[in-house]
Amino acid sequence: MKPRILISLCLTGAACRYDGRDNGVDLGALTERAELIPVCPEQLGGLPTPRVPAERRGDRVVARDGRDVTAAFLRGAEQAALLAARFGARYALLKARSPSCGVHEIYDGRFSGAIIPGMGVAAGRLKDMGLALYDERHIDDLIEKLDGEDG
Ligand code: SF4
Repeated sequence: MKPRILISLCLTGAACRYDGRDNGVDLGALTERAELIPVCPEQLGGLPTPRVPAERRGDRVVARDGRDVTAAFLRGAEQAALLAARFGARYALLKARSPSCGVHEIYDGRFSGAIIPGMGVAAGRLKDMGLALYDERHIDDLIEKLDGEDG
């Protein structure tokens, strides 16, 4: 059976970003090797598309209009975790810098465009479950890892 990979829905070309756009990337090499499980934690948490952009501020997530949207982000992370468990995903390919999906870095919570080290809420939950996380800038590393498992 091919390995199953949880993937940020916006990377598949679905227009689920906060601004109603997508972050589609070429997934051809990945779909040859794996089954993809697309999830958008922010939508799964109950947020609409389009939506007011949000950023992590410590343990909270705050929208640009000042609303605290932490609960929705936590709900979405939990839903993503449930899907990862249900499908037996051991890897996740996630959108870089997102307050939900970011793997290595996120925006600094001031809507200034500044980047700081950190993870999105859902990414952190998936990491705690033991999934190996990659963002779309490191898709080649994930493919190499999958090829290594074959051998
Ligand atoms: Fe993409 Fe994740 Fe943001 Fe949804 S929450 S739009 S999947 S980066």
